[in-house]
Amino acid sequence: MATFQKSVFLGGGIAPRTSVLGSFPVWNVATYVPKCFRVKTLVTIAAQKNTNTEYVIVGGGNSAGYAAKAFVENGAAEGKVCIVAKENVAPYERPALTKAYLFPVDKSPARLPGFHTSVGGGGERQTPDWYKEKGIEVLYGTEVTGLDIDKQSLTTSSGDTISYNKLIIATGCTAARLPEKIGGSLKGVYYIRDVADADQLVSALKSAKKVVVIGGGYIGMEVSAAVSAWNLDVTIVFPEKHVMPRLFTPTIAAQYEELYKNNNVKFRKEVSVAKLKEGSAGEVVGVELTDGSTLDADLVVVGVGAKPVVAPFLEAGLKSESGAIEVDGSFKTSSPGVYAIGDVAAFPLKIYNRRTRVEHVDHARKSATHCVNALVKNSTEEYDYLPFFYSRVFEAPGSERKIWWQFYGDNVGEAVEIGNFDPKYAAFWIESGSLKGVFLESGSPEEFGLLPSLAREQPPVDISALRSATTVEDALKIAQAALEKQKVTM
Ligand SMILES: Cc1cc2nc3c(=O)[nH]c(=O)nc-3n(C[C@H](O)[C@H](O)[C@H](O)COP(=O)(O)OP(=O)(O)OC[C@H]3O[C@@H](n4cnc5c(N)ncnc54)[C@H](O)[C@@H]3O)c2cc1C
Repeated sequence: MATFQKSVFLGGGIAPRTSVLGSFPVWNVATYVPKCFRVKTLVTIAAQKNTNTEYVIVGGGNSAGYAAKAFVENGAAEGKVCIVAKENVAPYERPALTKAYLFPVDKSPARLPGFHTSVGGGGERQTPDWYKEKGIEVLYGTEVTGLDIDKQSLTTSSGDTISYNKLIIATGCTAARLPEKIGGSLKGVYYIRDVADADQLVSALKSAKKVVVIGGGYIGMEVSAAVSAWNLDVTIVFPEKHVMPRLFTPTIAAQYEELYKNNNVKFRKEVSVAKLKEGSAGEVVGVELTDGSTLDADLVVVGVGAKPVVAPFLEAGLKSESGAIEVDGSFKTSSPGVYAIGDVAAFPLKIYNRRTRVEHVDHARKSATHCVNALVKNSTEEYDYLPFFYSRVFEAPGSERKIWWQFYGDNVGEAVEIGNFDPKYAAFWIESGSLKGVFLESGSPEEFGLLPSLAREQPPVDISALRSATTVEDALKIAQAALEKQKVTM
């Protein structure tokens, strides 16, 4: 696709200028005029940016990194794969940004290249050189703004063209922002989605005194835990009754909140932000709450959710589902040759017979591998994902109590909770007599290893036996025995 850009200027020479946007310049001097009045018209034809055109991945985040790994493993990478990445760094394990990346500077914080994909999944560290060695082209700092399905091409914010034979959309999410009119863009207000955001936050933490974290979900919990290690005054604010309301029971939440309080994190629950207060230099100086109170703050971190980055692709006509890109069990979109993976994909969750979108790294990794297998091996196997969430906090060196929980399955039905959080705790969700979901804090590797099969196989469980278990170990044995019994009777 050629686009034309006219640039008119007065001057004497006719040497073509190279466009800073990377387009090919073409001089078009139609009629002779005296040299001192000569007008030149610069017509630029959009440049073809990529050399590798067989498989183009738009994104450059978690799922793009794992897709690259899968192309390499399938022997289909060299000279064929191009990653178009808005960020200026090679794909990395994004969860690190609210964990080890935020450790105080004297406590060995994680930094790139330490956590490039696919180290989180136990694979090779895919540095920029790794992509070069494997013959994968990466266009860094390149934002895709348009898709032309008929022409099988993408346009970038610089007006360049990227051609593809098969396209994988892996653009992830962007952090939801507080509205500007209530101070969402004031100096000192931070959102955290990528390494550049995290760098700005770390730099601000060095001189901060009073930090307010808005949001009691993943980001709020992880950021406030990390910031507590900086010995700053930290308050977390959210409108719900307790932290992680979509997953935690009130009892699970109460134990984590207690631990946070022991780490000097303060809570303001069941209250929302009315406005961020602005100082004389346009900086945030406080957080006004809907109950009329104000928290002093010189640094605010907002963690109030995320939105899939899908606008250019939905505008091109891809079928959408609840604001995401609808895909089938092979991550094919409604348009032949176009796929979507990771956070942006609304896929069939086979195990529960419903369509969903998952904003978690485990799905980013697995969807990438599944999609590449479908593309390269023509595999028709349907994606069969088991929901898995985890978090790890208070892991900075010197921390007295580290937190590490995992959850598999669906938190439906009655929750049976066992343990004293010293350090272990478990919850089992039982619906219609069968185990549907399981949560475990501070398990051993073997105990964590049991959780996926419990959640996937959903064995019938004697709920009264489970309720009478006195330790997490006993409860897990009861669940395991139910699993074994189911295997024998099947
Ligand atoms: C701070 C943080 C902590 C997290 N912690 C956890 C955790 O503990 N556990 C967990 O399971 N999950 C966690 N997640 C979620 C997990 O990281 C995501 O689900 C995962 O990264 C999704 O992978 P993805 O490839 O779909 O998107 P991303 O990894 O977000 O990658 C998308 C990439 O696309 C780029 N992009 C966007 N638009 C364009 C465009 N138009 N053109 C070119 N490039 C574009 C972005 O810049 C980004 O690099 C966390 C997320 C964040 C932000």
